[in-house]
Amino acid sequence: MIRIFRLLFFPLLIFSQEISIGNERLNKLNLGDLEYVSLGKVIKALNGSLWRAGNRVVCVVPDSGETAEKEMVFTLDSSWALVGGEMVRLTSPVIEQEGSILFPVLSLKEVFPQIKEEIKEVISVTSSVKRDTAFYFFEISPPGNFYLRQLSSLSYEVIISARFLLSDLPAKGIVREIKIDRGDDETRFIFYFKKPGQAKGTKREEGILFKFFPTQPRERNLLIVLDPGHGGKDPGAVGKLGTREKDLNLAIAKKLAQRLERAGYRVLLTREKDEFVSLKERVDFANKNKADIFISIHNNASRENPRAVGFETYFLAEGRTDLERAQALKENEVLKLEENSNPFLNDELSLILSDLAQTEFLKESEELACAIQDAADAYLGLANRGVKQAGFYVLRGALMPAVLVEGGFLTNRREEKLLRQEKTQEKIAEAIFRGVKNFLLSYEKKIAGER
Ligand SMILES: [Zn+2]
Repeated sequence: MIRIFRLLFFPLLIFSQEISIGNERLNKLNLGDLEYVSLGKVIKALNGSLWRAGNRVVCVVPDSGETAEKEMVFTLDSSWALVGGEMVRLTSPVIEQEGSILFPVLSLKEVFPQIKEEIKEVISVTSSVKRDTAFYFFEISPPGNFYLRQLSSLSYEVIISARFLLSDLPAKGIVREIKIDRGDDETRFIFYFKKPGQAKGTKREEGILFKFFPTQPRERNLLIVLDPGHGGKDPGAVGKLGTREKDLNLAIAKKLAQRLERAGYRVLLTREKDEFVSLKERVDFANKNKADIFISIHNNASRENPRAVGFETYFLAEGRTDLERAQALKENEVLKLEENSNPFLNDELSLILSDLAQTEFLKESEELACAIQDAADAYLGLANRGVKQAGFYVLRGALMPAVLVEGGFLTNRREEKLLRQEKTQEKIAEAIFRGVKNFLLSYEKKIAGER
């Protein structure tokens, strides 16, 4: 059935506290620096419909496309959305407050292109400097929105939803150079710094004030979450001599923790003793504590090939080879033991969303995996099986660089004997420690500006 909708374009006017779409006037809510608007009211103004399923919000609005309507799926507390079948990243998560579902004002135009925005213009820019801190006030009429994103410790991207017809801006204080990319209704600036710095934007009555200032030294040491695999009713792999993977993983994790703490890092373990911890709890623990990196520690097994030996490091990505996929299946097997069998597991959208979370750190995760594997190769004396990628559940959804280390093979007699020795456990811990330290030398500089 084809339904014909009258094509409507709704002018979007943003006043300081109200938005109007068509004839509807919607209140804006300020939550911290973010502006939100009721999603229900937006959908109603667009003559669409909305319903909820758990933490999902599904909306259908009339559209000019062939199907005459567009479906959108939002997830509460997530910035990722499915819009007409495509993944879109919103400027901030969709949230629920006092029973009302709130949508970020800055993403309105991207998700609902039928809302047309009145063209705004930057009238003037006033700049000043105090020590190294530079201030730029953009006078905009009517008031516009902005989007601020750190590109590196030395650069920021600023997008203003307004036309910019003025001449170039002067570099002041910490700001070394400003590049301007002029669009019809929005302008993109890149501010380059002379030294690591940060930026803050504040909306004022008649415009936006940006402040660029040098990064203060970090207040806290980096936090590393170590995750000794398996535990409790889940022994992991078991060797011929009875060595249980769960005990070995914990022993190595504790030795690694000592080294990291001595080097000045903060360390937390997902389990300190022989107890069962679900895979989801492990990732949640790292996220909740805002870990800077996550290392899951395991040891290996191969029923098919008792000759298999060596050390390997994984980061999360779809496995490229059958072997990599088989490895993920093996370590994910514990999911069967988890009592409240994870509701996320069979939920494809959640998997996509959590994978995307880790995708942001894919490059860093791969670098961390390589650093650990290189250190192991140089120091450990176990066979080097290389860096691999696979879809380990325990790495999914980690909001930080995350890797999984497989120390050695419990199914190989010789290697099992080695792994039982405290000396070997110390060496594995030392190898991982060296890799982590090398990785953090460059990573620390990169994230220093983000705090
Ligand atoms: Zn394992």
